[in-house]
Amino acid sequence: MRVKFWGVRGSIPSGNKETAGIGGNTTCVEVRCGDDLFILDTGTGIRNLGMSLMDQLPIQAKILYSHVHWDHIQGLPFFGPLYLEGNEFDIYGGTSLPITIEEILHRQMSPPVFPVPMKTLPSTLRFHDQKSGDVIETDHCRISLISMYHPNGSYGYRFDSEGKSMVFATDVEHMTEDVVDPRLKKFCSDADVLIYDCQYTEDEYHGRNGHFPRIGWGHSTMNHGVKLAQAANVKQLILFHHDPAHCDETVKGIESEARELFPKSTAAYEGLEIDFQQSIYPKSCFE
Ligand SMILES: [Zn+2]
Ligand SMILES: [Zn+2]
Repeated sequence: MRVKFWGVRGSIPSGNKETAGIGGNTTCVEVRCGDDLFILDTGTGIRNLGMSLMDQLPIQAKILYSHVHWDHIQGLPFFGPLYLEGNEFDIYGGTSLPITIEEILHRQMSPPVFPVPMKTLPSTLRFHDQKSGDVIETDHCRISLISMYHPNGSYGYRFDSEGKSMVFATDVEHMTEDVVDPRLKKFCSDADVLIYDCQYTEDEYHGRNGHFPRIGWGHSTMNHGVKLAQAANVKQLILFHHDPAHCDETVKGIESEARELFPKSTAAYEGLEIDFQQSIYPKSCFE
């Protein structure tokens, strides 16, 4: 299994020189298991992934959505391989509302908000509505789903492949300060890598920094990510879904603090790659 990060930001892209180290694109992660290609979310990071795939055509990929808030879908209309015949995509997702993943993505790619209607795309798209507890199995890996606490709902995904495991749990808020969600703890149990929503600092979350508290906004903190990683006996924690207001220096500070609590912590950045067959301790962006 190999993982590459193309977008690590939450809420909205934040491209400026102060965020250039970590990167300003919203959520998109590429996962390879054998010859399977998975794409976790289609935030603005998918545009660069699409360009990298252009010399590997035709593509067959599974796109797995954590949920459909804008920062997780808004790059899809700019994913080049969609516009080429011969490419095939199986698209998995869902929400807590009675609407299909196909309908939501179709609305995003419809005039007048986008000029090219999704139904005119020459690539092949197949849609699969998901629910908690579903399992996707291929020759190379097993992927399980968990529903998580987030406005309108979100899904976490766990990949198990050739004795290695990774959990992608973004857009999730902890429900209590001190107690780790027992469902999530079990889901993450003994994972080699946990990618977790660490959007806010404790001061931001509680409103000691900024104009208002962020409680109930659907995101967690590095400190709670560490608690979950420790409780679930995770080997490596990746701090993910960085706040658009967090410049590289802020993320560097959060990563340093995380490493004091849980030494194998790394803040996600665009271009970060993890090869599970080799080292599973990725380098910091700041080393
Ligand atoms: Zn998000
Ligand atoms: Zn969200």
